[in-house]
Amino acid sequence: MTDHAPPSPPKVLLIFGTRPEAIKLFPVVRALQAAGGMQVVTCVTAQHRGLLDQVLAIAGIVPDVDLDLMEPGQTLDRLTARLLTGLGEVMDAHRPDRVIVQGDTATAMTGALAAYYRKIPVAHVEAGLRSGDIYHPWPEEVNRRIVAPIADLHFAPTDTAATALARENVTAGVHVTGNTVIDALLWTRERIAAVPALAAELDPVAKRFADKRIVLVTTHRRENFGDGMAGIARAIGRIADRDDVAVIFPMHPNPNVGAVMDAILGERANVARIAPLDYPHFIRALGMCDLALTDSGGVQEEAPSLGKPVLVMRETTERPEGIAAGTARLVGTDPDRIVSEVFTLLDDNAAHARMARAHNPFGDGRASARIARIINDRMAR
Ligand code: UDP
Repeated sequence: MTDHAPPSPPKVLLIFGTRPEAIKLFPVVRALQAAGGMQVVTCVTAQHRGLLDQVLAIAGIVPDVDLDLMEPGQTLDRLTARLLTGLGEVMDAHRPDRVIVQGDTATAMTGALAAYYRKIPVAHVEAGLRSGDIYHPWPEEVNRRIVAPIADLHFAPTDTAATALARENVTAGVHVTGNTVIDALLWTRERIAAVPALAAELDPVAKRFADKRIVLVTTHRRENFGDGMAGIARAIGRIADRDDVAVIFPMHPNPNVGAVMDAILGERANVARIAPLDYPHFIRALGMCDLALTDSGGVQEEAPSLGKPVLVMRETTERPEGIAAGTARLVGTDPDRIVSEVFTLLDDNAAHARMARAHNPFGDGRASARIARIINDRMAR
């Protein structure tokens, strides 16, 4: 009686490959599932294996498809080719009605391209970020520019991002939703408050540095590898020369980070160089610190929600909202500049207070619900 069989619900495929994509998409997966009326399929490419798995486990997501494409030391060419082929095959097998990608990775770019080759509509979460410089961040600036003309739904986190899209003549299907990272942060903070054991592995570090001012450091950007990383290592050493300061430094597993830190920074009593933290532990560390010193994009967005100043070790940022709101400052990778900006925030209470306003220009924690509603409406048409 196929004439009377109920139509199957529309199928939406979410693709993610790295830790930040998992952090920023897990709230969207949850919101789409809560909205109902859609078949939600998740595919991980595992461009970052370990870091991605940590986030999925905490969010309770078991991916429907796992391409496991991580290969140590693979070139961008090879990664891109494997992603494009692998994701195309997933789309042929699952035949989604819509594909959702996030951000600016090779996974997002190839996911959009494979969907385009099959004329499947694409929604882009965190659309419209632009630094204006194709080599900073590299290759992310071009990855996200490639997604823009393909997508028919663009979830811009801020008005600034929507304006950047308009400059490229992308105006249809643009929705300013806030950044889903704030949803992830608030959800995780609530989980830690309910179940402190989720972040309890930081107890020894918290105890060890109980009487110190804490600087939280993360660095992993490709454009900082080499001289930039050496400058960062020297700066951390000089910050750690102060007895009243401690550095918590969850180190990205990329060997370009660890080798330079070993050579220049070495072991220091008040520097905790630790393995990358899973998301609840990282959010606890962010809550513990006096300021964050980072080249990460996500940390720039999260820190203002916890009232933490962010010093950004880059020359440009595609997240000017934090600079405009006064919660972030660009400091590059010159050690003199980094050290002087860190010491100003540690020693000048008024300067710290000006940057520590707990106002977040990046979102209000409801971005995923907005995105799910818009996608639901669009797919019901
Ligand atoms: N993060 C984490 N553990 C860490 C360091 C960072 O969970 O040890 C989180 C952080 O909260 C943010 C995201 O990872 O949400 C940022 O990822 P990353 O810096 O790798 O990438 P970017 O944001 O620069 O794309």
